[in-house]
Amino acid sequence: MKKWREECGVFGIWNHPEASRITYLGLFALQHRGQESCGIVSLDKENHIHHKGLGLVADNFTEPELDRLSGRTAIGHVRYATTGDNLLTNAQPLTANLKDGFVAVAHNGNIVNAGKLREELKNDGAIFQGSNDTEVLIHLLARDKAVKFEDRVMNALKKLEGAYSLVILTSKQLFAVRDPMGFRPLSIGKLDGDMNGLSYSSWVVASETCAFDLIGAKFERDILPGEILIIENGGGKTHSLHLPEAPKKAQCIFEHVYFARPDSVVFGEGVYEARKNLGRYLAQECPIDADIVVPVPDSGVAAALGYAEESKIPFDMGIIRNHYVGRTFIEPRSHIRSFGVKIKLNPMAALLRGKRVIVIDDSIVRGTTSKKIISLVRNAGAKEIHLRIAAPPTTGPCYYGVDTPTKKELIAANQSVDEIRKFVGADTLGYLSVTGLLKAVRANSNTYCAACFDGKYPTPIYD
Ligand code: AMP
Repeated sequence: MKKWREECGVFGIWNHPEASRITYLGLFALQHRGQESCGIVSLDKENHIHHKGLGLVADNFTEPELDRLSGRTAIGHVRYATTGDNLLTNAQPLTANLKDGFVAVAHNGNIVNAGKLREELKNDGAIFQGSNDTEVLIHLLARDKAVKFEDRVMNALKKLEGAYSLVILTSKQLFAVRDPMGFRPLSIGKLDGDMNGLSYSSWVVASETCAFDLIGAKFERDILPGEILIIENGGGKTHSLHLPEAPKKAQCIFEHVYFARPDSVVFGEGVYEARKNLGRYLAQECPIDADIVVPVPDSGVAAALGYAEESKIPFDMGIIRNHYVGRTFIEPRSHIRSFGVKIKLNPMAALLRGKRVIVIDDSIVRGTTSKKIISLVRNAGAKEIHLRIAAPPTTGPCYYGVDTPTKKELIAANQSVDEIRKFVGADTLGYLSVTGLLKAVRANSNTYCAACFDGKYPTPIYD
Protein backbone atom coordinates (compact mmCIF):
# COMPACT_ATOMS: atom_id res chain seq x y z
CA MET A 1 0.00 0.00 0.00
CA LYS A 2 1.19 3.50 -0.79
CA LYS A 3 2.16 5.24 2.40
CA TRP A 4 2.42 8.95 2.47
CA ARG A 5 2.12 9.84 6.10
CA GLU A 6 5.66 10.51 7.10
CA GLU A 7 7.06 12.81 9.69
CA CYS A 8 10.78 12.66 10.04
CA GLY A 9 13.96 14.34 11.14
CA VAL A 10 17.39 13.96 9.54
CA PHE A 11 20.90 14.72 10.71
CA GLY A 12 24.43 14.37 9.34
CA ILE A 13 27.96 15.22 10.43
CA TRP A 14 31.20 15.18 8.46
CA ASN A 15 34.63 14.96 10.05
CA HIS A 16 34.12 14.77 13.78
CA PRO A 17 36.07 12.51 16.19
CA GLU A 18 32.80 11.47 17.85
CA ALA A 19 30.50 11.50 14.83
CA SER A 20 27.99 8.91 16.05
CA ARG A 21 27.68 10.48 19.51
CA ILE A 22 27.04 13.88 17.98
CA THR A 23 24.48 12.30 15.64
CA TYR A 24 22.82 10.68 18.65
CA LEU A 25 22.54 14.11 20.28
CA GLY A 26 21.30 15.67 17.04
CA LEU A 27 18.58 13.03 16.75
CA PHE A 28 17.72 13.53 20.39
CA ALA A 29 17.05 17.22 19.65
CA LEU A 30 14.92 16.19 16.64
CA GLN A 31 12.98 13.52 18.51
CA HIS A 32 9.72 15.52 18.25
CA ARG A 33 9.85 14.93 14.46
CA GLY A 34 9.36 11.18 14.84
CA GLN A 35 9.21 8.67 17.67
CA GLU A 36 8.57 5.32 16.05
CA SER A 37 11.98 4.43 14.73
CA CYS A 38 15.48 5.80 14.60
CA GLY A 39 18.83 4.93 13.12
CA ILE A 40 22.43 5.96 12.66
CA VAL A 41 24.89 4.97 9.92
CA SER A 42 28.53 5.84 10.44
CA LEU A 43 31.41 5.79 8.01
CA ASP A 44 34.76 4.47 9.25
CA LYS A 45 37.24 4.74 6.40
CA GLU A 46 35.51 2.63 3.70
CA ASN A 47 33.21 0.77 6.12
CA HIS A 48 29.63 1.70 6.90
CA ILE A 49 28.26 0.62 10.25
CA HIS A 50 24.59 0.90 11.07
CA HIS A 51 22.14 0.50 13.88
CA LYS A 52 18.39 0.98 13.63
CA GLY A 53 15.63 0.36 16.08
CA LEU A 54 11.97 0.93 16.86
CA GLY A 55 11.13 3.61 19.39
CA LEU A 56 12.98 6.52 20.89
CA VAL A 57 16.60 7.55 20.34
CA ALA A 58 17.42 7.36 24.07
CA ASP A 59 16.12 3.77 24.24
CA ASN A 60 17.98 2.50 21.19
CA PHE A 61 21.57 3.56 21.57
CA THR A 62 23.83 2.36 24.36
CA GLU A 63 27.47 3.30 24.98
CA PRO A 64 28.76 0.07 23.39
CA GLU A 65 26.46 0.63 20.40
CA LEU A 66 27.78 4.13 19.88
CA ASP A 67 31.36 2.82 20.24
CA ARG A 68 30.62 0.29 17.51
CA LEU A 69 29.37 3.12 15.26
CA SER A 70 32.93 4.30 14.77
CA GLY A 71 34.29 6.78 12.25
CA ARG A 72 34.39 10.51 11.69
CA THR A 73 31.20 10.78 9.63
CA ALA A 74 27.62 9.74 10.37
CA ILE A 75 24.02 10.35 9.39
CA GLY A 76 20.86 9.67 11.33
CA HIS A 77 17.11 9.65 11.11
CA VAL A 78 14.03 9.69 13.33
CA ARG A 79 10.76 8.55 11.85
CA TYR A 80 7.09 8.45 12.64
CA ALA A 81 5.00 5.90 10.78
CA THR A 82 1.28 5.26 10.81
CA THR A 83 -0.36 2.04 11.95
CA GLY A 84 0.69 -1.15 10.23
CA ASP A 85 3.75 0.38 8.76
CA ASN A 86 5.93 0.54 11.78
CA LEU A 87 8.41 -1.99 10.46
CA LEU A 88 12.11 -2.10 11.04
CA THR A 89 12.61 -2.54 7.28
CA ASN A 90 11.24 0.96 6.82
CA ALA A 91 13.43 2.46 9.54
CA GLN A 92 16.07 4.77 8.15
CA PRO A 93 18.77 5.52 7.13
CA LEU A 94 18.20 3.02 4.32
CA THR A 95 21.39 1.38 3.14
CA ALA A 96 22.41 -0.42 -0.04
CA ASN A 97 25.45 -1.69 -1.89
CA LEU A 98 25.59 -0.18 -5.35
CA LYS A 99 28.03 -0.86 -8.16
CA ASP A 100 30.45 1.78 -6.89
CA GLY A 101 30.00 1.13 -3.21
CA PHE A 102 27.81 1.74 -0.26
CA VAL A 103 25.09 4.35 0.06
CA ALA A 104 22.93 5.38 3.02
CA VAL A 105 19.92 7.68 2.71
CA ALA A 106 17.90 9.55 5.35
CA HIS A 107 14.78 11.23 4.01
CA ASN A 108 12.26 13.70 5.40
CA GLY A 109 9.21 14.38 3.27
CA ASN A 110 7.10 12.45 0.86
CA ILE A 111 7.61 11.76 -2.81
CA VAL A 112 4.19 12.11 -4.42
CA ASN A 113 5.02 10.08 -7.54
CA ALA A 114 6.72 7.28 -5.58
CA GLY A 115 3.83 4.85 -6.22
CA LYS A 116 4.10 5.31 -9.97
CA LEU A 117 7.90 5.06 -9.97
CA ARG A 118 7.79 1.99 -7.73
CA GLU A 119 5.44 0.20 -10.18
CA GLU A 120 7.68 1.10 -13.13
CA LEU A 121 10.76 -0.13 -11.29
CA LYS A 122 9.03 -3.36 -10.20
CA ASN A 123 7.92 -4.03 -13.76
CA ASP A 124 11.55 -3.67 -14.68
CA GLY A 125 12.62 -6.30 -12.14
CA ALA A 126 13.42 -4.20 -9.07
CA ILE A 127 12.92 -5.85 -5.69
CA PHE A 128 11.61 -3.73 -2.81
CA GLN A 129 12.02 -4.62 0.84
CA GLY A 130 9.78 -2.11 2.60
CA SER A 131 6.93 0.22 1.74
CA ASN A 132 8.61 3.58 2.05
CA ASP A 133 9.24 5.91 -0.84
CA THR A 134 12.93 6.41 -0.05
CA GLU A 135 13.67 2.98 -1.48
CA VAL A 136 12.59 4.30 -4.87
CA LEU A 137 15.44 6.79 -4.76
CA ILE A 138 17.95 4.02 -4.00
CA HIS A 139 16.75 2.03 -7.03
CA LEU A 140 16.99 5.10 -9.25
CA LEU A 141 20.55 5.70 -8.02
CA ALA A 142 21.42 2.05 -8.67
CA ARG A 143 20.17 2.16 -12.26
CA ASP A 144 21.52 5.47 -13.42
CA LYS A 145 24.42 5.21 -15.86
CA ALA A 146 26.26 8.48 -15.13
CA VAL A 147 29.88 8.00 -14.13
CA LYS A 148 30.08 10.47 -11.25
CA PHE A 149 27.89 9.64 -8.27
CA GLU A 150 26.78 13.26 -7.89
CA ASP A 151 25.43 13.22 -11.47
CA ARG A 152 23.50 10.08 -10.63
CA VAL A 153 22.02 11.85 -7.62
CA MET A 154 21.02 14.73 -9.87
CA ASN A 155 19.48 12.41 -12.50
CA ALA A 156 17.58 10.39 -9.90
CA LEU A 157 16.21 13.46 -8.12
CA LYS A 158 14.99 14.96 -11.39
CA LYS A 159 12.54 12.04 -11.58
CA LEU A 160 11.05 12.71 -8.15
CA GLU A 161 8.10 14.96 -7.45
CA GLY A 162 7.09 16.21 -4.05
CA ALA A 163 8.89 16.75 -0.80
CA TYR A 164 12.37 15.60 0.07
CA SER A 165 14.97 16.89 2.42
CA LEU A 166 17.73 14.31 2.21
CA VAL A 167 21.03 13.41 3.73
CA ILE A 168 22.94 10.88 1.61
CA LEU A 169 26.20 9.26 2.66
CA THR A 170 28.63 7.34 0.47
CA SER A 171 32.20 6.32 1.25
CA LYS A 172 33.47 9.56 -0.19
CA GLN A 173 30.77 12.19 0.06
CA LEU A 174 27.98 13.54 2.21
CA PHE A 175 25.04 15.11 0.35
CA ALA A 176 22.45 17.50 1.78
CA VAL A 177 19.50 18.04 -0.54
CA ARG A 178 16.24 19.99 -0.57
CA ASP A 179 13.61 19.50 -3.26
CA PRO A 180 13.09 22.42 -5.66
CA MET A 181 9.97 23.61 -3.84
CA GLY A 182 11.70 23.44 -0.46
CA PHE A 183 8.81 21.77 1.37
CA ARG A 184 10.74 20.59 4.40
CA PRO A 185 13.51 22.43 6.22
CA LEU A 186 17.19 21.50 6.16
CA SER A 187 20.07 23.61 7.44
CA ILE A 188 23.83 23.44 7.47
CA GLY A 189 26.12 24.44 10.31
CA LYS A 190 29.74 24.30 11.41
CA LEU A 191 31.18 22.68 14.50
CA ASP A 192 34.80 23.52 15.31
CA GLY A 193 36.69 22.27 18.33
CA ASP A 194 39.50 20.11 19.55
CA MET A 195 39.81 16.77 21.25
CA ASN A 196 42.95 15.44 22.89
CA GLY A 197 44.90 18.34 21.40
CA LEU A 198 43.73 17.63 17.84
CA SER A 199 41.52 20.29 16.30
CA TYR A 200 38.65 19.47 13.98
CA SER A 201 36.28 21.40 11.81
CA SER A 202 33.03 19.60 11.03
CA TRP A 203 30.06 20.24 8.80
CA VAL A 204 26.66 19.41 10.25
CA VAL A 205 23.27 19.24 8.58
CA ALA A 206 19.97 18.97 10.41
CA SER A 207 16.25 19.26 9.83
CA GLU A 208 16.09 21.95 12.49
CA THR A 209 18.51 24.40 14.03
CA CYS A 210 17.64 23.26 17.58
CA ALA A 211 19.95 20.30 16.86
CA PHE A 212 22.84 22.75 16.26
CA ASP A 213 22.12 24.48 19.57
CA LEU A 214 22.44 21.23 21.50
CA ILE A 215 25.77 20.19 19.96
CA GLY A 216 27.21 23.72 20.01
CA ALA A 217 27.34 24.10 16.21
CA LYS A 218 27.06 27.45 14.47
CA PHE A 219 24.17 27.80 12.03
CA GLU A 220 25.55 28.74 8.60
CA ARG A 221 22.49 28.81 6.35
CA ASP A 222 19.51 26.86 5.02
CA ILE A 223 20.12 24.44 2.18
CA LEU A 224 18.39 26.21 -0.71
CA PRO A 225 15.33 24.76 -2.41
CA GLY A 226 16.70 22.61 -5.26
CA GLU A 227 20.24 22.59 -3.89
CA ILE A 228 22.37 19.44 -3.81
CA LEU A 229 25.19 20.36 -1.44
CA ILE A 230 28.21 18.07 -1.49
CA ILE A 231 30.77 17.72 1.28
CA GLU A 232 33.83 15.59 0.54
CA ASN A 233 37.33 14.78 1.58
CA GLY A 234 39.79 17.58 1.64
CA GLY A 235 37.87 19.26 4.40
CA GLY A 236 36.68 22.79 4.50
CA LYS A 237 34.99 23.37 1.17
CA THR A 238 31.63 22.28 -0.14
CA HIS A 239 30.22 22.57 -3.64
CA SER A 240 26.64 22.54 -4.89
CA LEU A 241 24.63 21.41 -7.89
CA HIS A 242 21.18 22.86 -8.49
CA LEU A 243 18.05 21.05 -9.64
CA PRO A 244 15.88 22.83 -12.22
CA GLU A 245 14.13 25.71 -10.52
CA ALA A 246 10.49 25.24 -9.52
CA PRO A 247 7.97 27.91 -10.56
CA LYS A 248 7.17 28.53 -6.91
CA LYS A 249 8.41 27.55 -3.49
CA ALA A 250 6.22 25.53 -1.15
CA GLN A 251 7.78 25.68 2.30
CA CYS A 252 5.50 23.94 4.79
CA ILE A 253 3.59 26.44 6.90
CA PHE A 254 2.63 23.70 9.34
CA GLU A 255 6.26 23.55 10.50
CA HIS A 256 5.58 26.99 12.01
CA VAL A 257 2.10 26.15 13.27
CA TYR A 258 2.92 22.92 15.06
CA PHE A 259 5.61 20.67 13.84
CA ALA A 260 8.97 22.37 14.42
CA ARG A 261 10.37 23.01 17.86
CA PRO A 262 9.77 26.61 18.99
CA ASP A 263 13.49 27.16 19.60
CA SER A 264 14.32 26.43 15.93
CA VAL A 265 14.71 28.92 13.11
CA VAL A 266 12.82 27.47 10.17
CA PHE A 267 12.79 28.96 6.64
CA GLY A 268 14.56 32.02 8.04
CA GLU A 269 11.96 32.74 10.73
CA GLY A 270 12.15 31.96 14.45
CA VAL A 271 9.37 29.49 15.20
CA TYR A 272 8.63 30.85 18.68
CA GLU A 273 8.17 34.39 17.41
CA ALA A 274 6.08 33.15 14.46
CA ARG A 275 3.81 31.31 16.90
CA LYS A 276 3.47 34.38 19.12
CA ASN A 277 2.50 36.32 16.00
CA LEU A 278 -0.14 33.69 15.22
CA GLY A 279 -1.60 34.42 18.66
CA ARG A 280 -1.40 38.19 18.18
CA TYR A 281 -3.28 38.06 14.87
CA LEU A 282 -5.76 35.58 16.35
CA ALA A 283 -6.51 38.09 19.14
CA GLN A 284 -7.09 40.79 16.51
CA GLU A 285 -9.29 38.60 14.33
CA CYS A 286 -11.24 36.75 17.05
CA PRO A 287 -11.42 38.97 20.16
CA ILE A 288 -13.59 38.07 23.15
CA ASP A 289 -14.05 39.47 26.63
CA ALA A 290 -12.68 36.98 29.17
CA ASP A 291 -10.75 36.64 32.46
CA ILE A 292 -7.85 34.41 31.52
CA VAL A 293 -5.92 33.08 28.49
CA VAL A 294 -4.94 29.42 28.90
CA PRO A 295 -2.75 27.47 26.46
CA VAL A 296 -3.06 23.82 25.65
CA PRO A 297 0.50 22.84 26.57
CA ASP A 298 2.89 22.65 24.84
CA SER A 299 1.50 23.24 21.35
CA GLY A 300 -0.55 26.34 22.26
CA VAL A 301 1.85 28.10 24.64
CA ALA A 302 3.59 30.60 22.33
CA ALA A 303 0.35 31.51 20.54
CA ALA A 304 -1.41 32.00 23.90
CA LEU A 305 1.37 34.36 25.02
CA GLY A 306 0.86 36.37 21.83
CA TYR A 307 -2.92 36.35 22.30
CA ALA A 308 -2.63 37.50 25.92
CA GLU A 309 -0.14 40.22 25.03
CA GLU A 310 -2.37 41.57 22.25
CA SER A 311 -5.68 41.28 24.13
CA LYS A 312 -4.25 42.43 27.50
CA ILE A 313 -6.02 39.50 29.15
CA PRO A 314 -3.82 37.69 31.72
CA PHE A 315 -2.05 34.49 30.66
CA ASP A 316 -2.04 31.54 33.03
CA MET A 317 -1.07 27.88 32.84
CA GLY A 318 -4.56 26.62 33.61
CA ILE A 319 -3.74 23.20 32.17
CA ILE A 320 -0.66 21.28 33.27
CA ARG A 321 1.00 18.69 31.08
CA ASN A 322 2.60 15.46 32.19
CA HIS A 323 5.82 15.40 30.20
CA TYR A 324 6.44 11.70 30.51
CA VAL A 325 3.75 10.73 28.01
CA GLY A 326 4.41 10.67 24.26
CA ARG A 327 2.42 12.90 21.95
CA THR A 328 -1.14 11.59 22.10
CA PHE A 329 -1.51 11.94 18.35
CA ILE A 330 1.08 9.25 17.86
CA GLU A 331 -0.92 6.48 19.50
CA PRO A 332 -2.07 4.06 16.84
CA ARG A 333 -5.56 3.24 18.11
CA SER A 334 -8.26 5.82 18.61
CA HIS A 335 -9.50 4.62 21.98
CA ILE A 336 -5.98 4.97 23.35
CA ARG A 337 -5.67 8.41 21.78
CA SER A 338 -8.75 9.81 23.47
CA PHE A 339 -7.76 8.28 26.79
CA GLY A 340 -4.33 9.83 26.29
CA VAL A 341 -5.58 13.38 26.76
CA LYS A 342 -6.44 12.65 30.37
CA ILE A 343 -3.12 10.97 30.96
CA LYS A 344 -1.35 13.96 29.51
CA LEU A 345 -3.27 17.06 30.60
CA ASN A 346 -4.64 18.08 33.98
CA PRO A 347 -6.75 21.25 34.39
CA MET A 348 -6.02 23.50 37.40
CA ALA A 349 -9.40 23.95 39.07
CA ALA A 350 -7.95 26.64 41.37
CA LEU A 351 -7.22 28.82 38.34
CA LEU A 352 -10.24 27.98 36.19
CA ARG A 353 -13.17 27.84 38.64
CA GLY A 354 -15.81 30.48 37.91
CA LYS A 355 -13.69 32.09 35.14
CA ARG A 356 -14.37 33.04 31.54
CA VAL A 357 -11.53 31.13 29.90
CA ILE A 358 -9.94 31.54 26.46
CA VAL A 359 -8.31 28.21 25.56
CA ILE A 360 -5.67 28.43 22.84
CA ASP A 361 -4.42 25.51 20.75
CA ASP A 362 -2.43 25.27 17.53
CA SER A 363 -4.86 23.29 15.38
CA ILE A 364 -7.87 21.01 15.35
CA VAL A 365 -7.45 17.89 13.25
CA ARG A 366 -10.11 15.30 14.09
CA GLY A 367 -11.51 17.32 16.96
CA THR A 368 -11.24 14.55 19.55
CA THR A 369 -8.45 16.24 21.51
CA SER A 370 -10.24 19.59 21.72
CA LYS A 371 -13.45 17.90 22.82
CA LYS A 372 -11.63 16.18 25.70
CA ILE A 373 -9.83 19.36 26.70
CA ILE A 374 -13.00 21.46 26.73
CA SER A 375 -14.72 18.88 28.88
CA LEU A 376 -11.75 18.79 31.30
CA VAL A 377 -11.79 22.58 31.60
CA ARG A 378 -15.57 22.63 31.99
CA ASN A 379 -15.43 20.00 34.75
CA ALA A 380 -12.79 22.07 36.50
CA GLY A 381 -15.43 24.78 36.94
CA ALA A 382 -14.84 27.25 34.07
CA LYS A 383 -17.87 29.53 33.60
CA GLU A 384 -17.35 30.12 29.87
CA ILE A 385 -14.91 28.48 27.44
CA HIS A 386 -13.82 30.30 24.29
CA LEU A 387 -11.68 28.10 22.08
CA ARG A 388 -9.26 29.93 19.81
CA ILE A 389 -7.17 28.10 17.23
CA ALA A 390 -3.92 29.67 16.04
CA ALA A 391 -4.35 28.34 12.49
CA PRO A 392 -7.17 28.15 9.95
CA PRO A 393 -9.49 25.10 9.80
CA THR A 394 -7.53 22.03 8.65
CA THR A 395 -9.50 21.06 5.57
CA GLY A 396 -7.08 18.93 3.54
CA PRO A 397 -4.63 16.09 4.10
CA CYS A 398 -0.91 16.70 3.64
CA TYR A 399 0.86 14.72 0.91
CA TYR A 400 4.26 16.19 1.65
CA GLY A 401 5.36 14.68 4.92
CA VAL A 402 3.03 15.76 7.71
CA ASP A 403 0.72 13.17 9.19
CA THR A 404 -2.81 14.39 8.71
CA PRO A 405 -5.66 11.94 8.33
CA THR A 406 -7.86 11.55 5.27
CA LYS A 407 -10.41 14.20 4.39
CA LYS A 408 -13.14 12.01 5.84
CA GLU A 409 -11.56 12.23 9.29
CA LEU A 410 -10.74 15.94 9.18
CA ILE A 411 -13.54 17.59 11.11
CA ALA A 412 -13.19 20.97 9.36
CA ALA A 413 -13.44 19.32 5.94
CA ASN A 414 -16.89 18.07 6.85
CA GLN A 415 -18.38 20.48 9.36
CA SER A 416 -18.93 24.22 9.69
CA VAL A 417 -17.19 26.22 12.41
CA ASP A 418 -20.40 26.29 14.42
CA GLU A 419 -20.87 22.54 14.06
CA ILE A 420 -17.29 22.03 15.27
CA ARG A 421 -17.95 24.38 18.20
CA LYS A 422 -20.93 22.25 19.18
CA PHE A 423 -18.95 19.01 18.75
CA VAL A 424 -16.09 20.17 20.98
CA GLY A 425 -18.49 21.77 23.47
CA ALA A 426 -17.06 25.31 23.54
CA ASP A 427 -19.16 28.46 24.08
CA THR A 428 -17.45 30.15 21.14
CA LEU A 429 -14.85 29.01 18.61
CA GLY A 430 -12.57 31.15 16.45
CA TYR A 431 -9.89 30.22 13.92
CA LEU A 432 -7.12 32.37 12.45
CA SER A 433 -7.59 33.30 8.78
CA VAL A 434 -5.21 32.14 6.02
CA THR A 435 -4.20 35.80 5.53
CA GLY A 436 -3.41 36.10 9.25
CA LEU A 437 -1.42 32.89 9.10
CA LEU A 438 0.72 34.08 6.18
CA LYS A 439 1.26 37.47 7.82
CA ALA A 440 2.33 35.85 11.09
CA VAL A 441 5.17 33.91 9.45
CA ARG A 442 5.97 36.80 7.09
CA ALA A 443 5.25 34.49 4.16
CA ASN A 444 3.45 34.92 0.89
CA SER A 445 1.55 32.28 -1.01
CA ASN A 446 4.42 32.03 -3.52
CA THR A 447 6.92 30.85 -0.94
CA TYR A 448 4.80 28.70 1.35
CA CYS A 449 2.56 25.64 1.05
CA ALA A 450 -0.61 26.02 3.11
CA ALA A 451 -2.54 23.31 1.24
CA CYS A 452 -3.86 21.71 4.45
CA PHE A 453 -5.61 25.03 5.13
CA ASP A 454 -6.36 26.48 1.69
CA GLY A 455 -6.52 23.39 -0.55
CA LYS A 456 -3.97 24.80 -3.00
CA TYR A 457 -1.74 21.78 -3.55
CA PRO A 458 1.49 22.84 -5.23
CA THR A 459 2.05 19.55 -7.09
CA PRO A 460 -0.21 17.00 -8.79
CA ILE A 461 -1.41 14.29 -6.40
CA TYR A 462 -1.29 10.77 -7.88
CA ASP A 463 -2.25 8.32 -5.18
P1 AMP B 1 -7.19 16.03 17.06
O1 AMP B 1 -7.99 17.22 16.65
O2 AMP B 1 -7.76 15.28 18.21
O3 AMP B 1 -6.95 15.10 15.89
O4 AMP B 1 -5.75 16.52 17.54
C1 AMP B 1 -5.30 17.80 17.29
C2 AMP B 1 -4.00 18.06 18.00
O5 AMP B 1 -2.98 17.15 17.55
C3 AMP B 1 -3.49 19.45 17.68
O6 AMP B 1 -3.91 20.37 18.65
C4 AMP B 1 -1.99 19.30 17.65
O7 AMP B 1 -1.45 19.63 18.92
C5 AMP B 1 -1.76 17.84 17.34
N1 AMP B 1 -1.40 17.64 15.93
C6 AMP B 1 -1.88 18.28 14.86
N2 AMP B 1 -1.32 17.83 13.73
C7 AMP B 1 -0.44 16.88 14.09
C8 AMP B 1 0.48 16.05 13.38
N3 AMP B 1 0.56 16.10 12.07
N4 AMP B 1 1.23 15.20 14.09
C9 AMP B 1 1.12 15.13 15.42
N5 AMP B 1 0.28 15.89 16.15
C10 AMP B 1 -0.49 16.75 15.50
